[in-house]
Amino acid sequence: MPPRAPLLRIPYTDPLPAPRIIPASAATSSGAIAALVNFLSPSLPSSPSRSSSTTPASASSGHTVLLTGAGISVASGLADYRGTAGTYTLNRTYRPIYYNEFCASHEARKRYWARSFLGWTNLVRAKANAGHVAVGDLGRLGVVGSVVTQNVDSFHPLTHPALSTIELHGYLRTLTCLTCATSYPRSSFQHDLSRLNPSWATFLASMLETGALDTENPLERSKRGLKTNPDGDVDIPGAEYTTFRYPACPTCLKDGKIRVEVDTDGAWTTPAGGSGAGGAVLKPSVVMFGESIPAERKVAAEKTIDDASRILVVGSSLATYSAWRLVKRAKERNMPIGILNIGGCRGEDTFYANVQEEGNAGREAVRCSERADVILPQVVQALQASRSRDRI
Ligand SMILES: [Zn+2]
Repeated sequence: MPPRAPLLRIPYTDPLPAPRIIPASAATSSGAIAALVNFLSPSLPSSPSRSSSTTPASASSGHTVLLTGAGISVASGLADYRGTAGTYTLNRTYRPIYYNEFCASHEARKRYWARSFLGWTNLVRAKANAGHVAVGDLGRLGVVGSVVTQNVDSFHPLTHPALSTIELHGYLRTLTCLTCATSYPRSSFQHDLSRLNPSWATFLASMLETGALDTENPLERSKRGLKTNPDGDVDIPGAEYTTFRYPACPTCLKDGKIRVEVDTDGAWTTPAGGSGAGGAVLKPSVVMFGESIPAERKVAAEKTIDDASRILVVGSSLATYSAWRLVKRAKERNMPIGILNIGGCRGEDTFYANVQEEGNAGREAVRCSERADVILPQVVQALQASRSRDRI
């Protein structure tokens, strides 16, 4: 029997120790930039003048694969799960929905969609940042061959469509019917929810008016009555979710093969009950907690690790098992490991256990605790300059 796909688990929440900065010179911003340039340089395709007669002109010692997490989207105004202290500092009451709960319970779906209805605006208003742009530049330079992201905000594929991105945990931009697998854009679903829930639409309008959504500071948002999480979910104390309405899959309803009780607007009218929820259930195209990552996506992510010669983690504390195990895989393949993340990372002591301080200027291993949107653009500039010099 094939091994069962691991289920997406709640991120590891224990406090993480402060990182050991590698090399020690990477403790300053300029030192971190220099160390990252050293780390990525072997992946920079060399110019004809530098390559030996036996090496093709474009050869490098292999691509770097990037593994990104919520930290790269913080500068876009999306909250990170963990503060720099390594705990759920931004929203202590946050409890995500589980896959089984979503599939089985009409009540759970009402609550999910009500919160998502309010949170969606936040995601729509967020924009990719300089960190995402720099990742695209690293792709154009030939340094980075592929990106694996844990983020569901779609910023990577939108910012650098030419550079392959595997969205490990799916994405919020579409919904998928659990019965017929038809996909629908989340943006038009928002209009459906608005139409079906006029009082919620009014509440959302008032939130926009109070400016709760204007600030990028999660604490400030919270003060104005709005708490948000990285998956686009919103938490409103005391809000009544039981009245929220959401539509069933239009394709299934048209077919008539699935019987669900809906009113004339297409909204569910009765709890479906039982497992499978009676069919025609629309689910966001994200991997929920307790759900497994689709096998082909998991294999594709592993392949990108195997095809690369080094791995750079950007903006992830590796708290999520599916991300941590990709770095573990890289470690087992003796690939150089780089981590650019503010605060500690799960298991990093093990990843860097055999790194010799002496003689390592970043090429063998790099660990720095800096903002990706500030550091990566400068790394790109330095690599571009180094390639230009190479061409002279
Ligand atoms: Zn359907």
